[in-house]
Amino acid sequence: MSEEEDRERERTQLAQAAEAGIHRLAIPTPFQVGRVNAYLIEDSPLTLVDSGPNSAKALDDLEQQLNARGHEVEEVELLIVSHQHIDHFGLASILARRSGAEVAALDALAPFLASFGRETDIDDAFAQNLMLRHGIPADVVTALRAVSASFRGWGSSVEVTRPLAPDGELALRDRTLRVLHRPGHSPSDTVFLDESSQILLAADHLIAHISSNPLLARPLGAEPDPNAPRPQALLTYMASLEKTRQMELSLVLPGHGAPISDHAALIEERFRMHHRRADRAGAPHRA
Ligand SMILES: [Zn+2]
Repeated sequence: MSEEEDRERERTQLAQAAEAGIHRLAIPTPFQVGRVNAYLIEDSPLTLVDSGPNSAKALDDLEQQLNARGHEVEEVELLIVSHQHIDHFGLASILARRSGAEVAALDALAPFLASFGRETDIDDAFAQNLMLRHGIPADVVTALRAVSASFRGWGSSVEVTRPLAPDGELALRDRTLRVLHRPGHSPSDTVFLDESSQILLAADHLIAHISSNPLLARPLGAEPDPNAPRPQALLTYMASLEKTRQMELSLVLPGHGAPISDHAALIEERFRMHHRRADRAGAPHRA
């Protein structure tokens, strides 16, 4: 497809979301991934799904985009956090303080968000241990840990006032959001199905232009244990994708880039890619 056709399709998809009261706000980040998508749901409560990183630039951009839709930061009543990555939730604490909004996230993610600094220390120790175990030289590991520490400021602790149970629901005036835990990209990935429009807010669970990384991460809430078996993030991720593949959806709104109209075809493409890689590595097929 040509770039012009791509843009035209994206406009149509965003218009379809807007029809359901869901508006994409693409927020700048300092990271390689580029902008992160927050979604404004014009409902009661006025809801924001993800917020962008903790930076003045992200906040300024978010405010301008809210203003362009006739809203102020102070009007936001509910903030939803999709997962534990700072490009998605870093601004949540500032937004919650300014607006008084409730903060909703998967129940198992709440302790992580409440003490982000301490939890990130434990994550870094987990990563360091894993890297050393797999033969990465100590000086490289030290350098990577410094990189992680330098990113810390784009996150911020935030108190979850509405912990969400997996498979539970979040009722707004005009719609019900079904809360679905889809770990793999991160242990806390949560997707939200707008049951009235069959639109899925998917964050980084499924992205059109890049295949989401199944990152090796410490299981939620686990204390660091150098002898614990390595989490099998790719297998977890593929099982989560299979659940999403089976859903009837009208549109997927991802955490980065353009909406996805044919999620099943995209997921099958991802499966084929992972199977090709597994073949090259001589691994047996698992899914
Ligand atoms: Zn992420």
